[in-house]
Amino acid sequence: MIHFSEAVRVEMGQRLLDHYARHGRALPWRATRDPYAIWLSEILLQQTGVKSVVPYYERFLDRFPTIQALAEAPQEAVLACWQGLGYYRRAVHLHAAAQRMMQEHQGQLPRDIEQLVKLPGIGPSTAGAILAIAFNQHHAILDGNVKRILSRLMALELLPDSTPGRKILWEMAALLTPRDAAGHYAQAIMDLGATICRPRNPDCMGCPWSFWCRARAMGRPEAYPVTVARAAKPHRYQFNALVMREDGSLLLMPRPDRGLLGGMWQPPGDDPSLTVTPPDGETVRLWLAERHGLMVDPPVALPSVDHVFTHFRLTVYPFCCVWRAGELSGETIHRWIHPDHDRSTPISTLHRKVLARLTPRINPAA
Ligand code: SF4
Repeated sequence: MIHFSEAVRVEMGQRLLDHYARHGRALPWRATRDPYAIWLSEILLQQTGVKSVVPYYERFLDRFPTIQALAEAPQEAVLACWQGLGYYRRAVHLHAAAQRMMQEHQGQLPRDIEQLVKLPGIGPSTAGAILAIAFNQHHAILDGNVKRILSRLMALELLPDSTPGRKILWEMAALLTPRDAAGHYAQAIMDLGATICRPRNPDCMGCPWSFWCRARAMGRPEAYPVTVARAAKPHRYQFNALVMREDGSLLLMPRPDRGLLGGMWQPPGDDPSLTVTPPDGETVRLWLAERHGLMVDPPVALPSVDHVFTHFRLTVYPFCCVWRAGELSGETIHRWIHPDHDRSTPISTLHRKVLARLTPRINPAA
């Protein structure tokens, strides 16, 4: 591992903090010391850019202002507040962690990192960031931004998520974190990754660490972090039956709590499969009759919808199915809703796009 003397590390820390003091972004979670709000912001930022996060952060705190309010809310209300943001597992974990805090930590966010990482959805880097920012405890962070910056700083020839790569990065992250300013440093290095040491076109001229950066000296900052060529994502297919009653309401059902889009609601449909050929309307009609006991007019195919998940691409074939007879059994959880008016049923961006094929007034980004 590249060696920086203590004096150099102190200077690097100071330069970064000075840069942050001059150029740091004014973000709503930086104006609070409330550990709950800081925890929420860290979870929101895990997979999402700042611009998208801000309105969700404000809406979420408005709706669930305390750990207790979040813990006592139904999961569905939490997911409804999260809809459109993606990676819904984060919301399910946040909710479960709030309930654990009520049961095991007197409704408080634990201040001990060993306790904090035991809660759902909080890994070592997120825990370090929360404790550093909320309580100025001395913990390092190693999120995607920091991995990229440190890999470039050291011109690290290891995959950042390999065991040896991660070990070196954590060591360097801990060495560079100043003892007395861990909170500001955590914010500063995350800002550096978002605004200067960007994945593409890093602004090395404006970087407070350019003097020490090996990748910059080699003239190849974008060559780091090293990557393995990503395998092409598999492509899957499914149909959705948009069963509509005369009053314009549509049938929705919840997805299982665990797994893809867990807890979100969607129209009935088959599971994603590798079968490329779109089904015909008759197949969908028979499926609805056999699976759910619903009789519909001959289904009409609507334009397909493409969506990309982390691990696969999905094409959905929606069908407009006008309901004629038959009722779902009392055991089948379902709702008939008007999706362009209903704001309490959590629906993913994918399924809003699917529903919008039938009712273009539905905002797919809502
Ligand atoms: S000098 Fe360039 S590559 Fe190196 S840390 Fe700064 S922005 Fe990133």
